[in-house]
Amino acid sequence: MRLCYAIENGKSFVGLAYREGWVNLSLAMRSFSSYFAWLSMHPQPTTVDWLRNTPDLSRVLQEAVTHLEQSGEIERYRVPSQVRLLAPLTPPSKIVALGRNYAAHAAEMGHDVPQEPVLFAKAPSAIIGPDEDIVYPEYVHRLDPEIELGVVIGRQARHVPAEQAMQYVFGYTIVNDVTARDLQRAAQEKGYPWFISKSLDTFCPLGPYLVLTDEIENPHNLELTLRVNGQVRQHSNTSDCIFKIPRLIAYISQRITLEPGDLIATGTPEGIAPLQRGDVVECSITGLGVLRNRVV
Ligand code: MG
Repeated sequence: MRLCYAIENGKSFVGLAYREGWVNLSLAMRSFSSYFAWLSMHPQPTTVDWLRNTPDLSRVLQEAVTHLEQSGEIERYRVPSQVRLLAPLTPPSKIVALGRNYAAHAAEMGHDVPQEPVLFAKAPSAIIGPDEDIVYPEYVHRLDPEIELGVVIGRQARHVPAEQAMQYVFGYTIVNDVTARDLQRAAQEKGYPWFISKSLDTFCPLGPYLVLTDEIENPHNLELTLRVNGQVRQHSNTSDCIFKIPRLIAYISQRITLEPGDLIATGTPEGIAPLQRGDVVECSITGLGVLRNRVV
């Protein structure tokens, strides 16, 4: 299954991919009022609202869709495939990002391979969706894109052992961890946090949609490709990650409670190079689509 957050005729909705198009879940699920009583409180719920209000959302969606298909009702809720997609998480309570989680990237940035995960935060307000513009501020002198696999948490995770961690994953999406490299380096030299270099407005393109775990057999064998104006800059595989998803969820949830809809950006591979205004960045990961944004 895949979910999008989209807008049609001025109204946003969560869509479920169905036969070359989308089904408007926000409308379709109102007929299951016993499950989704909370919908009456949220006229235009986001994916994060769905995750927070519906325990075991994947299973419930699967059952509801089967019922809608069998009754023939599902066609009533179809929307055209050409709707405008918005960022698929709007907004998570937090974005936990990984630094130096690919050995070749750590080396190109002049760092050793870390012995434990290097975590930092990105502000959720930095999120933009597919085809929205990345704004290159005048006071920034080096802006880099970073393709990353995004892991979306499905239910509250606290002190979760690695062996159970994958049960807490709802799905995956593509993250572009846009970075003001000059601000980051200046902060690092002074021993300051580098939060701001990662969190400027528009610095977290996300999408184009969420792909649930049923479609991704092995998240540790996905090809990542980042192109700028059609030229390949980064090309790697999530198998090269130093700390894999179960270890990351265990490590983070020992220290910080992960909430439904939270996002883990699992780090970027080698191939870092700067962007210019006017560039078009395309990030693609096996099975997760293409996330495209222009720099302005
Ligand atoms: Mg990164």
